[in-house]
Amino acid sequence: MTGSIVHGENILEQIHLLLRKYGFYPDEGIAIHGSGISRKLVDAYFKEWDSSVIEDSTFDTVKELEGIVKYKRFLVAIGGGKVIDTGKVTAGNLGLPFVSIPTTLSNDGIFSPIGVIKKNHIPESILTKPPELLILDYSIIRSSPKELLLAGIGDLISNLSAILDWKLAVKLKKDTEDTPSMELSYEGAETFLEAEEEPFSIPFIKTLAHGLIKSGLAMQRHGSSRPASGAEHLISHALDKILEKPLIHGIQCGFATLFTVLLHGERGLFLRIKEFYERVGFPTTLEQLGVSEEKFREAVKLAPSLRPNRFTILHKNPEIEDALNCIT
Ligand SMILES: [Zn+2]
Repeated sequence: MTGSIVHGENILEQIHLLLRKYGFYPDEGIAIHGSGISRKLVDAYFKEWDSSVIEDSTFDTVKELEGIVKYKRFLVAIGGGKVIDTGKVTAGNLGLPFVSIPTTLSNDGIFSPIGVIKKNHIPESILTKPPELLILDYSIIRSSPKELLLAGIGDLISNLSAILDWKLAVKLKKDTEDTPSMELSYEGAETFLEAEEEPFSIPFIKTLAHGLIKSGLAMQRHGSSRPASGAEHLISHALDKILEKPLIHGIQCGFATLFTVLLHGERGLFLRIKEFYERVGFPTTLEQLGVSEEKFREAVKLAPSLRPNRFTILHKNPEIEDALNCIT
């Protein structure tokens, strides 16, 4: 089920040794990357490799890449969420081993079996194979844009809401229980919420990474995104459809978590998350998020219809006014 993880500071400097140790040889694979920092990393560390740049994460890109990669023995993806997801789904479709080298931590896809690919501009979650090897270079991740790291924070914290939904669904006999997956997902988020490290320091990034890995493991274990995706993700998916310019996935999910934990009546948890968000500079009001109350209401209304079979608090038609007041 699970792959291997190598992590540390400045470890890309020994990337060739590392890959060889796991049986990955440069002339047998291909490296895909984005156009920013990851291109520079490929120029520096993957000079003699076949490589390909990924501009977007659409089904067309995956198809195109399949044609390029099919004669290779493995695929390495270096970059942000789009590059990792495109690589993961392409490698999964071809049955090839996949090596994930994220340059930031913007979501829990780094170790999950889920890849998000766009169809007609709308992101779709594809269940595929998780990475065989995950390489985390904390020095590189730490220097990535703060907005992307905030998105990773939001995606991890959103597990707290997803697990409340899952427990509710089990209680109402709308879903089955999987305690180890529930605990894995919850634990990573809860530990991070209690983290006392200086925001965005290396120890803080490590705790974030460990939480996101646990989230990925929980999804691998359960074979779906249930451990890390509940009502807050549905609201984010609805915002993707409604907003002209949607925000980053993890920012939308993390923000919606403030609202959904209140719908669950978890005021104490709401206050803990809010305090934590304020400490790290994550939006805690619709105004800070840059979304109007009208659009947010629209998203909340649309959200349950986007996944009728995954029961969440939103499928119970909850009273939303009090919760809305707390985020406006
Ligand atoms: Zn997510």
